[in-house]
Amino acid sequence: MHELSLAQGLIEQLHTLAAEHKAERILRITVVIGPFSGIVVDSFSFGFDALKQESPVIREAVLEIDVPPPSYTCLDCEQVFSLEQEHHGVGQMPHGGLSKDTCIACSSHRLAASGGDELILKQIEME
Ligand SMILES: [Zn+2]
Repeated sequence: MHELSLAQGLIEQLHTLAAEHKAERILRITVVIGPFSGIVVDSFSFGFDALKQESPVIREAVLEIDVPPPSYTCLDCEQVFSLEQEHHGVGQMPHGGLSKDTCIACSSHRLAASGGDELILKQIEME
């Protein structure tokens, strides 16, 4: 499971940080999961909660997950738009799928995805 190995990686990272700061307990962590990461938030959260039980340092840590909305920036006209907005324009989609690689303003295909595609440890509280 992808999410489980990510949760495992996060826990290892937390152990390293706790050791570096000579912390006895981690109270709360906030991670940012990019909307393009393909990570299933529920599975990740479940995996983390299961794995943290094995660690006295992390056992009581509260996991908060932040998922920023997916958005794209057009490289031609600099229009910024999100996937949600595209959903409303269903009639314009040629194949019934998500035309997520087409600018809503100028139909350019030169888009940059923003909002992230990775898991980032954003904040950590420990004592
Ligand atoms: Zn454009």
